[in-house]
Amino acid sequence: MKAKFAEIREQFPILRQEENGQSLVYLDNGATSQKPERVIKAVDDYYRWQNANVHRGVYGLSERATELYEGARETARQFLNAKSTREIVFVRGVTEAINLVAQSWARANLKAGDEVIITEMEHHSNIVPWQLLRDQIGIRLSVLRINQKGEVCLNALKGMVSEKTKLLAVTQMSNALGTINPVKEMAEIARSVGAKVLVDGAQATPHMQVDVQDIDCDFYALSGHKMYGPTGIGVLYAKEALLEAMPPYQGGGDMIYSVTFDKTEYNVLPYKFEAGTPHIEGAIGLGEAMKFLQDIGLDEIAAYEAELLTYATERLKEIDGLKVIGEADNKGGVVSFVIDGVHPHDMATLMDQDGIAVRASHHCAMPVMQHFNVPATIRASFGVYNNFADIDRLIDSLNEAKDMLL
Ligand SMILES: *Cc1c(COP(=O)(O)O)cnc(C)c1O
Repeated sequence: MKAKFAEIREQFPILRQEENGQSLVYLDNGATSQKPERVIKAVDDYYRWQNANVHRGVYGLSERATELYEGARETARQFLNAKSTREIVFVRGVTEAINLVAQSWARANLKAGDEVIITEMEHHSNIVPWQLLRDQIGIRLSVLRINQKGEVCLNALKGMVSEKTKLLAVTQMSNALGTINPVKEMAEIARSVGAKVLVDGAQATPHMQVDVQDIDCDFYALSGHKMYGPTGIGVLYAKEALLEAMPPYQGGGDMIYSVTFDKTEYNVLPYKFEAGTPHIEGAIGLGEAMKFLQDIGLDEIAAYEAELLTYATERLKEIDGLKVIGEADNKGGVVSFVIDGVHPHDMATLMDQDGIAVRASHHCAMPVMQHFNVPATIRASFGVYNNFADIDRLIDSLNEAKDMLL
């Protein structure tokens, strides 16, 4: 397995670069991932040989661009195991996907007093859109708390849901803690009271096999840039019947069938939700990134990253005064920690001198920081190109920086 992943690392040109005179150790995959040669090439080829607007032209170039763009939609359908490409809406990313669900589906179907449940470990992009909706139409936003390991409790969720609950919106994997949530079981609990389920897949999609039919969620959101694809592109999956009944989120070209000043007829799915010229090369690059992940095998990626996580956690715990934040039984390749007497930002700044890219922040999950009573954590998050030597360099750098700071 190590040899296979060593070969995969070679496919990422950015990792051949030096930072501060040292080879780069990139451990900020929770924020964004690097891109393999084949994704860069797919985007480059598009602009060199295939660029035209989609769905419009009758000429060959436009037909080729359309085929590539729609081909990426089919790749995304397969990647998520959706039933139909009509359920695959291209959006900017998870943030836009969740805002779309809040402003289109929820605004049309929820009323004052209806409840949306989220968890305490959500990213801000799965908190703020619901707060906006709360202020707009008076929904109730409830929070499923986490324990000291950073896990949700299924029984607590069972006790929380009621006929008022209309939506459970939950992340499949926490970017701040690494916790993998039992979304399938959570979805079942939500469905038992007739609520819909939205899963934030920003962190899950680069690290594990996802099957929206198996989870049986109503909405699933992913971001291309977190999974080795371009920025500014993502997918909202939604069950077809829901999308069919939902009003458009934005109006403009491409999302219409016919327009007069009196009346506009909307286009069929999924185009009803794709107003304007789309991020064509982004979708093509995302399709290539999904194929890249599938060619490696998501189960194999999960197994490899689990080894990295185990090794990193063991080595980190050898450091005096270091405390791991988030120790869920089921965890993906993210390790967050704090060190007594050291500010995370100072630490990360010193580590940058050693060519180590880690994040020191609240990770867009301030409520998680409040739960653990820390202002920020240092986070190392792994991807397919990381290896055991990266972790050794992380540990050496941490030890040196700690000596300087204490
Ligand atoms: C990154 C992230 C998001 C937001 O994704 P964008 O690509 O910034 O829209 C949402 N949820 C989680 C868990 C994330 O890690």
